[in-house]
Amino acid sequence: MDGKKRKLHLAFLESPDDLPGALAGDEGGLPDGFIITRCGNNDDRSMILREIRKGDGASLLPVFLDEFLSDEEREASDGSARTREDMEAVAEDILKRLRDVEETSLRKSLDLRLLAFLYSREGKKLRPVLDPLSRGLYSYPLMDHLSGGMLESSGWITELLEKGYIREEALVDRIRSCPKCGGSHLNYVDVCPFCRSMDIRQVPFIHCFTCGRVGPQDAFVKEGALQCPYCGTRLRHIGSDYDRPMDNYICGSCSQTFAEPEVSCRCFLCGAWSSTENLSVRIYREYSISDKGILAVRSGSTEDLYSVLDTLNYMKPEPFRHLLNWQLDLSERPPVESFGLMIVSFSNLAEVRESAGRKKVSEMMDGLTKRLREIIRKTDISTRTPANDLLLLLPKTGEKGCTVLASKVKELENATRQPDGTYLELSVKTAVFPGDRQKGEDAVTLVARLKG
Ligand SMILES: [Zn+2]
Ligand SMILES: [Zn+2]
Ligand SMILES: [Zn+2]
Repeated sequence: MDGKKRKLHLAFLESPDDLPGALAGDEGGLPDGFIITRCGNNDDRSMILREIRKGDGASLLPVFLDEFLSDEEREASDGSARTREDMEAVAEDILKRLRDVEETSLRKSLDLRLLAFLYSREGKKLRPVLDPLSRGLYSYPLMDHLSGGMLESSGWITELLEKGYIREEALVDRIRSCPKCGGSHLNYVDVCPFCRSMDIRQVPFIHCFTCGRVGPQDAFVKEGALQCPYCGTRLRHIGSDYDRPMDNYICGSCSQTFAEPEVSCRCFLCGAWSSTENLSVRIYREYSISDKGILAVRSGSTEDLYSVLDTLNYMKPEPFRHLLNWQLDLSERPPVESFGLMIVSFSNLAEVRESAGRKKVSEMMDGLTKRLREIIRKTDISTRTPANDLLLLLPKTGEKGCTVLASKVKELENATRQPDGTYLELSVKTAVFPGDRQKGEDAVTLVARLKG
């Protein structure tokens, strides 16, 4: 880059007709960004923004609007009513960050495109926006724009979260929806628990002490005084002849009486009735890009070099921790049966990747994993730590077994050795339980200590 600041070319779009020319680079190449100015109507403006965001080439470029925005437009654009200098500064910053992004990868992967959008706008979060008239009430406009409405946001978010590319931020809302149609416009109605009619009303009740029966007060009034319609007793004194129980609803349809009505839910959109516990619950949060997401954007790959390790009797970290805790407790009960834990760390992987390239490292990891698979037993279980260490739980393995296995794993270093001498460094640590457990230690603290 030369020191001189290049003047940014922000293309003005006044109507949808201006867009094809701007995207085709009529003015000599793609512009550095767009300013959508007051054009015919709001629909046109939204349409232009959608067209830009869903395209291949320009989807991540800065887009400004000159007018006050809807929340949806705010999410998918880079702001409105800014001064020219302000827009240029923002655009400059976005373009600078976009230069870190491996460009060809963006065409292939929507995941990367979304992550690159978040990455190129500092502090940008994926935000749900409320649209009270829409079926689900909330949407993620940025996701809708970038995917051209092709991907359903909740599944997409789950996937990105599982891969670790985004992380959870503030909780925005918890929405219940109809299990039949997914609509969130629901009416909660009190109904009769016997016949489910909503024709119920609250009335005062009387409980006769003589015969023990309960009924609406109206049935107890005879010639201006209280008399039990069941046993005929005159009820003179509250507390000694009768009292007023909690039982105080009567159903207009089936005449049953009851203390608590049932709450039922009717969907305004499809008319289906559901009980409240059958409603689906959906959580809407904000999300931000994670460190792993940033790495993916910069390297242009969502493929993760360590993922091949997950083919070794892999178990997700959470159940693995449970199992480890269970083994720890088990190992302290007689008859004592020891088990081992092994942590394998790949200390120089990042450096080797730098020098030998991603493809080479990926091959080395493949080869290594293949050999590891030959060494470990069917009953050994593995997981990956957040720092990408391989964690192996070795049931029914004592001191000797652990030492033998550790040296076999360590020897695999040599198998990764390349003609130029490069090899993957393996750091192998083991512990045998119950002997190596410190008082009060659980799976988490134990692994942390072992790793050092
Ligand atoms: Zn419904
Ligand atoms: Zn009823
Ligand atoms: Zn009575």
